[in-house]
Amino acid sequence: MQRKTGVAAKVLRAGRIGAEPYTRARPALGGILEACTVAERHFDMVVIGGGPGGYIGAIRAAQLGYKVAIVERAKLGGVCLNWGCIPSKALLTNAELMEKLAHAEAYGLQIEGKINVQWEKVIGRSRDVAAKLNKGVEFLMKKNKITHIVANAKVLGGRNGSGGKCRVEIAECAVNEELSSAPAKPGKVIETITCDNVLIATGSVARDLPFAKFDGDKIWGAREAMYNKARPNKLVVVGSGAIGMEFAYFYKQMGTAVTVVEMLDTILPVEDKDVSEGMAKLYKKQGYDIRTGTTTTNIEKTASGVKVTVAPVVNGKPDESKKETLEADRVLLAIGVAARTDGLFDDKLGLKLERGWIVTDYKPGVTKAEPLTYATNLPGIYAIGDVIGPPCLAHKAMEEAVTCVERIAWKDKKAAHEPYPIDYSVLPGCTYCQPQVASVGYTEQKLIGEGKVKGKDYEVGKYTFQSHGKAIAAAHTDGFVKIIRGLPRGEILGAHIMGDAATELIAELSLARRLEATTEELIATIHAHPTMHEAVHEAALAAEGRALHV
Ligand SMILES: Cc1cc2nc3c(=O)[nH]c(=O)nc-3n(C[C@H](O)[C@H](O)[C@H](O)COP(=O)(O)OP(=O)(O)OC[C@H]3O[C@@H](n4cnc5c(N)ncnc54)[C@H](O)[C@@H]3O)c2cc1C
Repeated sequence: MQRKTGVAAKVLRAGRIGAEPYTRARPALGGILEACTVAERHFDMVVIGGGPGGYIGAIRAAQLGYKVAIVERAKLGGVCLNWGCIPSKALLTNAELMEKLAHAEAYGLQIEGKINVQWEKVIGRSRDVAAKLNKGVEFLMKKNKITHIVANAKVLGGRNGSGGKCRVEIAECAVNEELSSAPAKPGKVIETITCDNVLIATGSVARDLPFAKFDGDKIWGAREAMYNKARPNKLVVVGSGAIGMEFAYFYKQMGTAVTVVEMLDTILPVEDKDVSEGMAKLYKKQGYDIRTGTTTTNIEKTASGVKVTVAPVVNGKPDESKKETLEADRVLLAIGVAARTDGLFDDKLGLKLERGWIVTDYKPGVTKAEPLTYATNLPGIYAIGDVIGPPCLAHKAMEEAVTCVERIAWKDKKAAHEPYPIDYSVLPGCTYCQPQVASVGYTEQKLIGEGKVKGKDYEVGKYTFQSHGKAIAAAHTDGFVKIIRGLPRGEILGAHIMGDAATELIAELSLARRLEATTEELIATIHAHPTMHEAVHEAALAAEGRALHV
């Protein structure tokens, strides 16, 4: 069967409860409702958004005995399962395979003839993976007896006064999912439902530039980069965060010439400088055109592609005298995300926002473990996940959902104990290109910025994969593990890994930080041989000046 990979509008029309027609009084009319005979229904909790934050929150609430409805206007699984974490990792698996095959001879494998890329199948595999997981979440909703409503949800009001109910309007909604802006058009109102609590988990949407809007063709966001008809020969990636670098790696390995334009001084700018610089050095060597300290001032569409005008940043401004035009087939804007709140409420509701993010007691950038409620300024209305602000990560959304629901249940005397507050200082950040990048805790630059002195307040241990047995055997010798230990106790202040399996190795260091373990305790933990994990052990030894393999 031929798979349709074009961005030709595939519009989802929503207006169903799970697989059932909306009203039992009449048969389904292609999902479009004409007469609604359903009486006003009440739930204990209505979750808006079926991404990792929303669906996990719904499951936990159902487990705790609440009657739950989840309203999702597109597909269950949200950005993460359908357009983010998972399908992008499927594409990266192809890229890793291509990278290995390019060096097949080094492994004693001779490939006769050319390796042909069947682009439709590459994209198709990633879409199949997303579809499979989407079905899995549908199953979980059924299993937990959660009412799944396919529609747009609009909050009409919070719980006012004792015994008051929150009100949520349910409306048909067409969503053009294949565009990064994922435009949604709420239509006919179906019903109003009431509930004791609302959990908003509506996520985020990719940002474009004032002079360059996503057009579903030449100016891409992540969705177009993930789902398109043909591989471009030349691609400019604007923004070098995790999403930008993952797509840069994917396209480069698939044969595209890639230029990365980053306004800040380093690629992967949130990472420790050693990692950012290590990655930039390696990628330049591998043929990526990396332009740091460079801003994009204009994007012009041509008949066949795009012209991207860039200029070096001098004193925070573009130096127009040194501007340059990069010609490419496509440009990918990977410059961050904004809260997704379209269709969610009217201004008169009075829901507090700050820079677009829904305001709760969570503050973007928080590093302390505080007993947050995730309550908005409206009684009974809570918000979690991307929509409350960065870092926009699926594991943050899931953790917040569970904590928020458990805290409501604790208040309602439905939970046996008060939930642990989330310790944001152990939230790992990961980038899944090769070599992978993963980190937790402080960067060295942050410590220095806070006035800490190396040798007095902290010590650094670094161990490179170049001399590491398992890495050499697996031909993954690029990168290192860097551990920053506090003095005098030796607690893990930060850990930074560049290398194969970095995104797996980081879990040990997150746990160590969570348990306030010291490098001494990491050293006293026996690591299996030969494993990449031994590099963590060795970096801990190095932090104490006791490295064995250097
Ligand atoms: C290319 C890419 C790669 C990524 N890779 C990673 C990764 O490797 N690791 C990681 O941790 N994170 C990754 N992310 C980020 C991750 O996808 C998000 O942080 C995560 O999906 C946020 O979860 P959420 O539940 O807050 O919102 P979302 O997943 O965005 O889900 C929100 C849902 O709400 C629905 N919705 C919105 N408004 C309404 C409404 N009014 N009514 C009904 N439904 C509504 C939307 O349709 C959507 O399905 C990636 C993102 C992208 C784009």
